[in-house]
Amino acid sequence: MILAIKQITITFLLVAFTSQVFSNNLFKDPPTKKSKPNIIVIMADDLGYADVGFNGCTDIPTPNIDRIAKNGVVCTNGYTTYSVCGPSRAGFITGRYQQRFGFERNPQYRPHDPNMGLPKSEATLAETLKKVNYTSGIIGKWHLGADISNHPLNRGFDFFFGHLGGGHNYFPESLNIQDSYSAENENQSYKTWILKNHTPIQTKKYLTDEFSDEAVSFIENSQKKPFFLYLSYNAPHTPLQASEKYLKRFPNLQGKRKTYAAMVSAVDDGVGMVLDQLEKLNLDENTLVFFLSDNGGPETKNGSNNGPLRGMKSSVYEGGFRVPYAVQWKGNIQPGIYHEPVSSLDIYATIAALSKAPIKKKKPLDGTNLIPFLNATQKGKPHENIYLRKFDGKFHTIRNNNLKLVINGKTSKKELYNLKDDIGETKNIANKHPKDVERLSQLSQEWDSHLIDPIFLGLIHTKEWQKKLQRKNKKN
Ligand code: CA
Repeated sequence: MILAIKQITITFLLVAFTSQVFSNNLFKDPPTKKSKPNIIVIMADDLGYADVGFNGCTDIPTPNIDRIAKNGVVCTNGYTTYSVCGPSRAGFITGRYQQRFGFERNPQYRPHDPNMGLPKSEATLAETLKKVNYTSGIIGKWHLGADISNHPLNRGFDFFFGHLGGGHNYFPESLNIQDSYSAENENQSYKTWILKNHTPIQTKKYLTDEFSDEAVSFIENSQKKPFFLYLSYNAPHTPLQASEKYLKRFPNLQGKRKTYAAMVSAVDDGVGMVLDQLEKLNLDENTLVFFLSDNGGPETKNGSNNGPLRGMKSSVYEGGFRVPYAVQWKGNIQPGIYHEPVSSLDIYATIAALSKAPIKKKKPLDGTNLIPFLNATQKGKPHENIYLRKFDGKFHTIRNNNLKLVINGKTSKKELYNLKDDIGETKNIANKHPKDVERLSQLSQEWDSHLIDPIFLGLIHTKEWQKKLQRKNKKN
């Protein structure tokens, strides 16, 4: 019942929103400008599907994130390539399904292991855009390898202000390890000083505010050439920590949800600062801005809300990897709502196409330039299928049109859902549609045949896990 109400609320808000945005007819013909567009990707961390205004959130106002939606397009079926942080970010930053190159686990924090992170055989978006004279900056969370060989400045970026691991403490007084490379594990990595390029610095403000300030400066400093800014907030990922400035905005919320709301609100302020800066510098018509989360909300951990979607972070159900997703490019894309599935992979493909950046033939992109689809100048849809594999859990899932197949490799159970009538994946219709189950299984297998096994151990492979494995091997 609650799910149904949530669903109705979201549908209603989307309809209301559509009529509102279509009334502001900002659409013009596609750009004829000679200059290459800038791109800003604002990625939130562990933000729930229903925790932005444009997806129906009411208890956490996100007026600035909603500006992107109003200026541009809300993608209601926006997917990432994985349901936890590291692999999802590896997919986004390479434009390729990360299972193709073995990045299928959250990496351990290993600052002296060059193989624990993004393989050097893949080209990051920053590396590709460098070939067409872009300046690239990443502000916030990296999480693609803590060894110096994978430092952002060694992976195509010209500027870095952030942390190497998968999460971080937010208050300056809780950052007490100066040298990021002396932290010995993920826990310790949360306490390292922030790196400005290669230099550890002591921050003064709440971390989200530090990142927002740096983003504004980066835009100011980079405007003479085309730029790519990856504003990679670690919020609202745990630890749940928020400053009074944001907490006091939510007197009626309690517990985790209150702190979470404050953290989201801080991100929203930052998004507003970025958009204001683009307007002030008259860059907004030459800058694409994507907003998305890296995976679904871990509702029980951080108080997020995935609305009508089943499951949460790390799941193969929609709540795991269908995320808030909006894109603006003022004057160049038609404002509205887009319902066909899109992927975080499409960001790379879109800017590569617009900037005419060369792509290696041996490393074809898995995404699609979204602009012609969003502007309805191209028929069809960006993706025939959306895929996910979770190697350790032995799960596969594939979405084809509105049908979604979930295969549990441990039990061999196959579930089929029709997302059009059943967004919450509540009615398994596999028995009624055996031919579709077979067809989707084959498509999934075909995709899987191009993947490799994970190339490094992950955060789940703790000392406990190693001991268990040793005991098991002794028995055999
Ligand atoms: Ca995440």
